[in-house]
Amino acid sequence: MNTNKSLTVLTEIPTEEMQKVLIFIENANQIISEYFGVRTSFDIVICHGSWEMEIQVISRRREQPLQYDDTKSVAITDYHLKEIIIRYDVAKFGHYLHELIHGIISKNHSQQLREGLAWYFTLKLTERCRYVRPKYPSWIDNLYIYPVKKLAQIIGDDFLKDFALGNGVIQEDAFPSDVQELFLPEEFYYAKKRYHN
Ligand SMILES: [Zn+2]
Repeated sequence: MNTNKSLTVLTEIPTEEMQKVLIFIENANQIISEYFGVRTSFDIVICHGSWEMEIQVISRRREQPLQYDDTKSVAITDYHLKEIIIRYDVAKFGHYLHELIHGIISKNHSQQLREGLAWYFTLKLTERCRYVRPKYPSWIDNLYIYPVKKLAQIIGDDFLKDFALGNGVIQEDAFPSDVQELFLPEEFYYAKKRYHN
């Protein structure tokens, strides 16, 4: 059962393809609700081809420092409009899972922390079927995944899960500096990263 508020399809999709989209969404929702106990209420928009995706990305480029990478050309989550946009012709199951995880992560976290948490849990929940994972460049590893892994080792997965949903507070001053950076205001964080790269 699809409990997302709405599913918008911007393009003509063949019936079998549409079935695949629905099954991916349903399975991702199922995995997320079993693991986190909640599922996203974000709307989902399905589009086709690089041009339609680009229009979606450009029209939403607002306050968030969108980092361009491969995954963004396949799927994005707009926290402001509470919408998830997926390019169905290239999206793997892992893209659906990744964005639907974004859909339950607290809006109050910084952009880099949300990204790190979404990646961490995407990898965690696909451990036994790695082939469904989205491909990602190595800077995603350095910038996001590595510090969140460190955080998880310190506080444990259960607390990290609650924290991702916006429950529980972390006193970040006690953590290593790359973990602390996840908590910086995003403008500052990205300015700093640009400066060092
Ligand atoms: Zn993401």
